Amino acid sequence: ASFAELAVPGWLRANVQRMNYAKPTPIQAHAVPLALDGRNDLMCCAQTGSGKTAGFLLPILAQLGAAQPAPIAADAPCAPAAVIMAPTRELAAQIHLEAQRLSFGGGAIRAVVVYGGAKPRPQLQELAHGCDVLVATPGRLTEFVDSGVVSLAGTRFLVLDEADRMLDMGFEPQIRRLVLQRDMPPKSRRQTLLFSATFPHSIQQLAREFMRHYTWIGV
Ligand code: AMP
Repeated sequence: ASFAELAVPGWLRANVQRMNYAKPTPIQAHAVPLALDGRNDLMCCAQTGSGKTAGFLLPILAQLGAAQPAPIAADAPCAPAAVIMAPTRELAAQIHLEAQRLSFGGGAIRAVVVYGGAKPRPQLQELAHGCDVLVATPGRLTEFVDSGVVSLAGTRFLVLDEADRMLDMGFEPQIRRLVLQRDMPPKSRRQTLLFSATFPHSIQQLAREFMRHYTWIGV
């Protein structure tokens, strides 16, 4: 398959070409066409190196690029349309870099990354410039949501990347609170994409709670 056959829009195909992605990886070939329809939730079992990052970024950016940007009030908290949670600063930074590269030409889509273990101030300054795609570790995201800097109310796309690792690291209470007890729209009003290397009971349980009828993809 080619990226054109996956119905990825032209501006995204140009970015993919610039990044020397010749053809979709297996996870991309399976996940992208399904996720391009925002009504589909996905549970993807995929390892690092499988191309999973573009597997969730491509369909989200395609849908964001097609949409008219919503006007925002100057004093409103940052309310990203896409929220991507990842276990570590390194992974979050990688996802952010790929999101920036893939966003080019998509109509001013702005991606911001926030993580713990770093000063909040530069991250707050980045958020103040606007944020359509927020990549975050669960701890720092919790701090920013609790302090009112970030609102989850505009979330149309939710991604949990390396979900099994996030649970292993003890993030489950924070993730549950962000998804189920804060201002995040219910699962019926957002698209949720869950990525995990393994599929133990704890992840199956999260999948049931966080997603509508979902498609399972294993590569
Ligand atoms: P990931 O599994 O998302 O961490 O991606 C692993 C590596 O593969 C990253 O360095 C990506 O830049 C690269 N990559 C992702 N998709 C493709 C593709 N379709 N063709 C070639 N390389 C890719």
